[in-house]
Amino acid sequence: MGEVRSYRGSCHCGKVAYEATADLSSVMECNCSICGRKGALMAFVPAESFRLLSGEGATTDYQFGKKAIHHRFCPTCGIHAYAEGQRAGKPMFMLNVRCLDGVDPWALSVNRVDGKSR
Ligand SMILES: [Zn+2]
Repeated sequence: MGEVRSYRGSCHCGKVAYEATADLSSVMECNCSICGRKGALMAFVPAESFRLLSGEGATTDYQFGKKAIHHRFCPTCGIHAYAEGQRAGKPMFMLNVRCLDGVDPWALSVNRVDGKSR
């Protein structure tokens, strides 16, 4: 376990912004059909660790397949700053670590997940 810290995330234009506490000691990169296209680095946090500051009801909500996850996109700049869904039956949010202020994605330990083969 690493250090749990507070972060602020946003899309590029600033319409979508959030605060979240997360442990970034290991972040996930996945090669599935959507993650591969997004190119996001992800960190998962429980719903209580996430607070949307702006963009409520404004994001484009994309769902596919089992429709378990809401992939949120800013309608103005197109950036995917977070997604929401469930993990082990509990509401969770998936942060795009590349959208967090003050985080150097190149300094993080990246766990590659082969979602494509699942
Ligand atoms: Zn935006």
